Formats: sequence, C-alpha cells, structure tokens
Amino acid sequence: MVLDNDFKQAQRRVDELITLLDHYSHEYYVLDRPTIPDSEYDKLYQELLKLEEMYPTLVQQDSPSQRVGGTLLPGFEKVEHDLPMLSLDNAFDLDGLRAFDKRVRQLVDGEVEYECELKIDGLAVSLKYENGKLIRAVTRGDGRVGENVTGNVRSIKAVPLKLKRAVTIEARGEIYMPKSSFIQLNEEREEQGEAVFANPRNAAAGTLRNLNPQVTASRNLSVFLYSIVQYGDLNVETQSDALNSLDKLGLRTNPERTVFQSIEEVWTYIEEYQNKRTSLPYEIDGIVIKVNKFDNQEQAGYTVKAPRWAIAYKFPAEEAKTTVNEIEWSV
Ligand code: NAD
Repeated sequence: MVLDNDFKQAQRRVDELITLLDHYSHEYYVLDRPTIPDSEYDKLYQELLKLEEMYPTLVQQDSPSQRVGGTLLPGFEKVEHDLPMLSLDNAFDLDGLRAFDKRVRQLVDGEVEYECELKIDGLAVSLKYENGKLIRAVTRGDGRVGENVTGNVRSIKAVPLKLKRAVTIEARGEIYMPKSSFIQLNEEREEQGEAVFANPRNAAAGTLRNLNPQVTASRNLSVFLYSIVQYGDLNVETQSDALNSLDKLGLRTNPERTVFQSIEEVWTYIEEYQNKRTSLPYEIDGIVIKVNKFDNQEQAGYTVKAPRWAIAYKFPAEEAKTTVNEIEWSV
C-alpha cells in the first residue's frame, strides 16, 4: 500500500502526541506533579482528536482518546467499579457548545433541558453506603478500577459516615481542597522548607492518595457529590432530582446549579460564573452541562470514554496558572 505524505505525517504526529500526553498524564495522575498547565495539555489532546477524526485508521487502542486518564498507585487495594467512572468531553467556546446541543437534539426525543453545575477542580470519588452506612470509598483510577481510599475518606468531615436514611446507594462526586486550606498548607510547607503544591487539585489528590490516613485527617479536604449510580429506593427522574435527593440524605452537593431550556441560556450561566470564579472559596475549572432528564440521557448514551449527554466547558487558562514551571512540585 502506498501511503501519501499527509497520512505519514499525521501518523508520526499521532505517535508523538500519544507519547507526550502519556508522559504528562503520568506526571498529573500518578505523581500529582504536572509540569505543564492544563490548557497546554488540552491543546495537545484536541490536536490528537482532530487528527484521529481526519484519519480514523490512526486511532490506537491505547490512545488517550480511548481511555480514562488515571493510573493506579501501588499501596492501595484495587477495586473494580460496578459501573465505569467515565471522563467528560470538553468544549472551549460557544460554537463547541452549540455543536454539543445539536448532537444531543439529534439523539433524544422531545424537549431538552440542561442542568448546569460548577466543575469542581479536585478528584473524582465513589462513595458506597449500605443501609445508610459508608462502607467504601474508591477513586476513579483508570475508570474501570480505582484505589480503595476508604480509610482516608472517613477522616473527611464533610463526608457523612451515616446517612439520614438507611438506604443502599452509590454516590459520586469530587473531593477538593478549599482555597483557604491550600494557602495555609503551602505556607506551613514553605516554613518547614518543604516543596509547595502547585494548585488545590494536586494538593487534594496528593492528600487523598496518601498512605498515611493521619496526613489526610490533618489537611482540610471537602466534597461535593454530583451523581448517583446506584439508587436504592430513591425515585428520581432527573439530574436535579438526584442532587436534591443527595441533599436530603445529608450528602453535600454544590448549591450553584440551575436548569435551562436552551444552550444560549447555558452560555449566560457560564459567563456569570467565569466572572464569579475567583470569589468562590474553592477552585473551579469550568462548567459541566448535563442533559437533565434520565430517559433523555439513556437515549443519548455513551462513548468509550464519556457520556454523550454531558459536556465540560473549560474556562480559558488563568494567568496565575502559567507560573506552573516556576513552582517546585510536591506530592
Ligand atoms: P475532565 O477534568 O475534563 O472532566 C471529568 C471530571 O470532571 C470528572 O471525572 C470529575 O472528576 C470532574 N467533575 C468536577 N465537577 C463535576 C461535576 N459537577 N459533574 C461531573 N463531573 C465533575 O477530565 P479528566 O479525565 O478528569 O482529566 C482530563 C483533564 O485533566 C484534562 O482536560 C487536563 O486539563 C487535565 N490534565 C492535565 C495534565 C497536565 O499535565 N497538566 C495531564 C493530564 C490531564
């Protein structure tokens, strides 16, 4: 077979991008010590997606586009998720959101509603409650298998050990470090001559995936739950019902959520929070837009890596984050 030059060039670039992205993912997910800003990672990832779209035969099984990012740390028990913990597709502008909206409307019947939530910059965790008692907490890991971090999660005060009702459910959400705790932690580390954390996300990940539960207990992590995957006796038909049910059970959800009928209204919400972002007491890196009705979600379905019924709008890179290479990194 004779391959034309464009194809050969694309093939070389795809290989190059996969090697680069794997390297940065290792630093980010395993070492909790990224060396480039997320926006740069996202740019390389989007370049890969574009080439894979142009040349579908170049999609490799182990491409970052075909799997959820994380790698598992040794030292933690590995736990297989009953249902995979997926990632989210990204949009970076209004055109990207309009394209998402168009795809969704082609896939589902009837009127579409979107539930908008803040995209908390932490790490995903699954919490299992049996008869109202916390029995297991697991990180997202590679999406299929995660790390058992129950001991550490039990020390987070915002995570109830017992729910208000004796239900058996699995809830998922984001563990994060509030900005004030992050600043205090870095001040202490600086005083002690230890390397500072790059951002609250890395601090939260390094703290939660620490083999010494006393370290986790001594740092102030918190949680926002944003989904239920095993419902027990809860009767819910929409994402907003699900979050209200979590509230009633005593699980912490983020209150800054709203349901909209159109993507143009979603954009107004995005602009509002882009402005409010710095005044929030926790880091957000975007807005997650989810089809609200569960029957519509089912109609839209999933790709290998993400639901087709949701998208994460990523805020443009913050200036402060460009200091990334000046920081001495730490786990
Ligand atoms: P993602 O961060 O784009 O989105 C998925 C995640 O969003 C979910 O797993 C969940 O943890 C989180 N989330 C927060 N709030 C949520 C809400 N309300 N509802 C649902 N989910 C919510 O995808 P990812 O797979 O976790 O990570 C990929 C991103 O990580 C990249 O886009 C990049 O920015 C960053 N990354 C950076 C580097 C680097 O070197 N800087 C390397 C690898 C990855």
